[in-house]
Amino acid sequence: VTVGAVRERAPGERRVALVPEAVTLLIRAGLDVLIETGAGSGAWFTDADYTAAGASVVPPEELYAHADAVLCVGPTDPETAASLRAGQTLIGLLEPLRHPALAGELAERGVRTVSLDLLPRTLSRAQSMDALTSQANVAGYKGAVLAADSYDRFLPMLTTAAGTMRPAQVLVLGAGVAGLQAIATARRLGAIVTAYDVRPAAREEVESLGARFLDIQHPPGTGSGAGQGGYARELTEAEQQAQRAALDAHIARTDIVITTAQVPGRKPPLLVTAAAVDAMKPGSVVVDLAASELGGNVEGSEPDKTQVLAGGVTVIGAGRLPSAMATAASTAYARNMVALLRHILHDGELLFDPADEITAALTGGALS
Ligand code: NAD
Repeated sequence: VTVGAVRERAPGERRVALVPEAVTLLIRAGLDVLIETGAGSGAWFTDADYTAAGASVVPPEELYAHADAVLCVGPTDPETAASLRAGQTLIGLLEPLRHPALAGELAERGVRTVSLDLLPRTLSRAQSMDALTSQANVAGYKGAVLAADSYDRFLPMLTTAAGTMRPAQVLVLGAGVAGLQAIATARRLGAIVTAYDVRPAAREEVESLGARFLDIQHPPGTGSGAGQGGYARELTEAEQQAQRAALDAHIARTDIVITTAQVPGRKPPLLVTAAAVDAMKPGSVVVDLAASELGGNVEGSEPDKTQVLAGGVTVIGAGRLPSAMATAASTAYARNMVALLRHILHDGELLFDPADEITAALTGGALS
């Protein structure tokens, strides 16, 4: 079996699906590995590094001609999709729910797709393949570091000859994988951290990191914010309004807000209104990890854009944080990829077993 990692086509994407250490592992598992010329350069891996690890570095035509499985980070881009033929498999964070037309076209042409973003997250034997988690960890860490970098005071309490500096107050909204990593990172930098999530299960995880869980008053009759598969459910408009009203007072007292809230298949919930940002002190920093073309958790935030508002608050729309730390993100992603390939490799063949819960989920149930 031959697998081939392509150079990512999306503008600004610096990650790569395989790093040299992963190539070594795959070759040891009995696979032949192709790498598209220059695929790792954005993450500081040279073609020579891949060759030394045992891969063949080839131009794209050759990769598409010989690879049984094409490996990418994703999401699916039209150029990669157009190069695939019947019988080939495309593996990556393909986001078929966001790109249904492209996914449908590939299925029609007989290309099998394995979307790592469809992995059942709560299954413990799937953890080593969980690319959403590995990338969210990078995003959470980098989000906290970005916030610290834009904040013009210290995060820790410092006692110096010039007196004592008070520690920064950090509020993290959304305590999933990225949020928990942002909490841990801000804590390591010495900030006082408070966090909030709609899923009641998040409280224990927040507290175990030494942060305070924010209790906000929900209107009577409000059910749990937990949804299916460990994810949050979308709150009703009334619940969202009550949530925002309750958060406003806390936001005004905070130096740094980091937001990470997501609901699968929906646009990110709006948690921080423009009025709440206006009420923050000059010099405060807001980092919106959910910033997207659909809008984010912070009103007015835009992906990949830093705005210093008239009131002196810096609002950072952090669109592509894993790509901004491409070496760590690619290394973790490649480990997920190796775990997945080992999972589907049986007797030297890639086997897509419809009876296997993980494989069935990753292929969207569309096994052939
Ligand atoms: P995500 O990216 O979908 O969402 C981020 C966080 O936002 C979630 O914690 C969610 O509850 C929260 N959120 C959504 N709406 C909100 C709102 N209105 N206000 C405040 N917070 C809101 O989540 P994720 O990081 O991908 O994690 C999803 C779930 O999967 C979590 O329960 C996580 O613990 C779980 N998980 C489990 C495993 C495992 O068991 N192996 C691995 C990874 C993730």
